[in-house]
Amino acid sequence: MNRNVLIVILLILAIFSINFGSISAQSDFQVFNWSTGGDVTNNTEFNSKIPHSDIVDEIVEGAKRGTPMLRFGNGSGHSVLICAGVHGNELSSQIAALTLINEIKSLKSEINGTIYIIPMAIPLDTALNQREFNGTDPNRDADVNGTVTNNVFKLSQNFSVIALGDFHTTYLPINLEDDDEILVTYPKTGYQNNLIYVYTMHKLINTPLIEYPMDTPQNPGVLQAHANFNGIPSFTYETKTRFGYVDGNSAERSLLGMKAFLTATGIYDFFNTDSSLINDSSLVNNNIFDDKLINVGLEECG
Ligand SMILES: [Zn+2]
Repeated sequence: MNRNVLIVILLILAIFSINFGSISAQSDFQVFNWSTGGDVTNNTEFNSKIPHSDIVDEIVEGAKRGTPMLRFGNGSGHSVLICAGVHGNELSSQIAALTLINEIKSLKSEINGTIYIIPMAIPLDTALNQREFNGTDPNRDADVNGTVTNNVFKLSQNFSVIALGDFHTTYLPINLEDDDEILVTYPKTGYQNNLIYVYTMHKLINTPLIEYPMDTPQNPGVLQAHANFNGIPSFTYETKTRFGYVDGNSAERSLLGMKAFLTATGIYDFFNTDSSLINDSSLVNNNIFDDKLINVGLEECG
């Protein structure tokens, strides 16, 4: 057998390793064996905030073996992927993703497309409440074959998603007055489809938009950068909270960002949105939110 073909087959097997099958007719649960498994209940702060339910407890159990992923919807229509927990010590977005799963599991056929959710990308790091994975920042090596973020990117490709939302938290000194503000980062130049989604999210929940400098040499390994550079509209969504803690209403604000994403992409309308707002390219062309843009350094986000 051709060596490259064998490598591709092994890669596919590695990505699609464990399938726990359907939870319901409209959802599906998988655990990917990426050596990322961990018992997230060992993280006492995280464990105290887990929105327990049958499905969440099954996810927490499955996460001991690797990276869990849920699919909601009937497999038709547009697909999107929501990722949380690339940095294990950023807890609020992971709690938000589990809460989102609890909320949308009953929506079933009302979902206009397919939603993939990776609520805890690296459960081992969530369990240890730490940022680095195997000694490196997992959101700086998305352009390296076989890394966790590279695998998430490849899943996005395989699912032909129209957009990938990567949900983080931060407590670094970003130049905003309100410590509780929510941040969206994205590449400003090009990527019109991506900008439409992000501008629509901003319009829905009035999130400050942060211009993420995408042209600096160290950026290609950021998941949203690698996705955007390879044709998948993507953004990083930052909710402000301390690393390792779920402060205040940070989980609720992260959840609001996820709902804005699903609304902006037309997958499910959580806001009774005027349909003319969706895919309104004038949002981008008019640059109506440019006064909200703030330049930040790469190491302050993501
Ligand atoms: Zn992060």
